Amino acid sequence: SAQPHDPFGFIGLTYDDVLLLPGETDVIPSQVDTTARLTREISVSVPLLSAAMDTVTESRMAIAMARQGGIGIIHRNLSIEAQAQNVDLVKRSESGMITDPVTITPDATLAELDALCGQYRVSGLPVVDADGLLLGIITNRDLRFVPPGDFAQRRVHEVMTKMPLITGPVGISREDAAALLGTHRIEKLPLVDDAGRLQGLITVKDFVKSEQYPDATKDGEGRLVVGAAIGFFGDAWDRATTLAEAGADVLVVDTANGHARLMLDMIRRLKADPAFAGVQIIGGNVATRAGAQALVDAGVDAVKVGVGPGSICTTRVVAGVGVPQVTAIYEASLACKPAGVPVIGDGGLQYSGDIAKALVAGADTVMLGSLLAGCDESPGDLVFVNGKQFKLYRGMGSIGAMASRGKKASYSKDRYFQADVASDDKIVPEGIEGQVPYRGPLGAVAHQLIGGLHQSMFYVGAHTIPQLQERGKFVRITPAGLKESHPHDIQMTVEAPNYTGR
Ligand code: 5GP
Repeated sequence: SAQPHDPFGFIGLTYDDVLLLPGETDVIPSQVDTTARLTREISVSVPLLSAAMDTVTESRMAIAMARQGGIGIIHRNLSIEAQAQNVDLVKRSESGMITDPVTITPDATLAELDALCGQYRVSGLPVVDADGLLLGIITNRDLRFVPPGDFAQRRVHEVMTKMPLITGPVGISREDAAALLGTHRIEKLPLVDDAGRLQGLITVKDFVKSEQYPDATKDGEGRLVVGAAIGFFGDAWDRATTLAEAGADVLVVDTANGHARLMLDMIRRLKADPAFAGVQIIGGNVATRAGAQALVDAGVDAVKVGVGPGSICTTRVVAGVGVPQVTAIYEASLACKPAGVPVIGDGGLQYSGDIAKALVAGADTVMLGSLLAGCDESPGDLVFVNGKQFKLYRGMGSIGAMASRGKKASYSKDRYFQADVASDDKIVPEGIEGQVPYRGPLGAVAHQLIGGLHQSMFYVGAHTIPQLQERGKFVRITPAGLKESHPHDIQMTVEAPNYTGR
């Protein structure tokens, strides 16, 4: 006879249920190494990702995250072209050598030049003819004495600095390029081949940036690393192809339930196609050992974990489904560790201390939404409420993100497997819309988050992330322990930069 079905599994724990035990230590917080594996092939010097959400990550956040040593994942609630443009902006933001520089033709108007410079946030462009022959360069210096009112009539060739210019040969070393820039006190060094055609560009700004952000996450050509989210439905394949062509280093097949056949098919197809050979594929989200195993078997380069822990997420109450995040990470790691596949703990982190808890539970990196949504670099304007500053933050499963109202199309619905829902009023949302306190620039926020992790590593006695994962031990706590953990029996009068209360 059949065994009676036992629906009661094990108990699930989350961040607030556990604390890390302090251990013997000779670690100095400022000297720890936080290098972590993001995917099978990419490492990051800081184990943080910014979430693929339309109130968290577009190009500005992705640039800022990569500079800090983490990575941003461009959200997918926008057209393929717009998302690819965001990827392009990150890849062009800083590099050892720009191999495919934005250029302008001599007949373009200064107004067109101005628009292009604004779009790519650059201060000048090489001028080339239709064959790519370098004719000159035009920068702020050349424009200084042209009244802006004349921009629509005046043309690039009238004011540009014409050849001969100081140029470098293709393949010039970093040191030689720096020497040329210095000797001639120029800011941009065009690289040309023997026929005089433009083949690249090296700028002073890029030298300054690499000194300013020594831990930045960079690809083999010295460009910032960036990820982008895709789905598995409709035009997802076109999106994946366009994003890879735009230079995405990582694609995240991003759904609310990654343990789904169509999703696994998508991953297998991506991993088998040579067009994606240079792109790392992350799959998610799952919250069980079996879900993680299915992604590992499909060939992913990292597994993203989290069903319902997000601050803006209502999946666990709307559907009654989810796994408390520390247990979910642990369970997924049981499948991922033996296969050498890194784990990303996505969602539910409220404080810097939760980063180390996630890593000890079995994650290699964590993805953050609400903790970053208040930064300058996240999309959206500041809103004032009772004299305090906030920024909007919403779930990608919220009505606002999923509805097609006011957009050409809705791109977010298929994350929740509701692509077939025809009208906005039939959507079953799994997230809410709200606001989080304004936090200033990412640099300051990241400093506190990473600083918190340094302190965790000091307390546990870990010089590196692998040591933290090995040595970290949890104690389970009760609601009384949680109450004791937070400030208590006092009225907080000054907010700390890393603590604003519950
Ligand atoms: P947070 O850091 O705010 O706690 O969580 C961010 C994560 O929540 C995202 O990376 C994503 O995985 C998840 N998420 C984003 N929007 C929604 C939503 O509307 N519903 C659900 N179920 N999860 C969401």
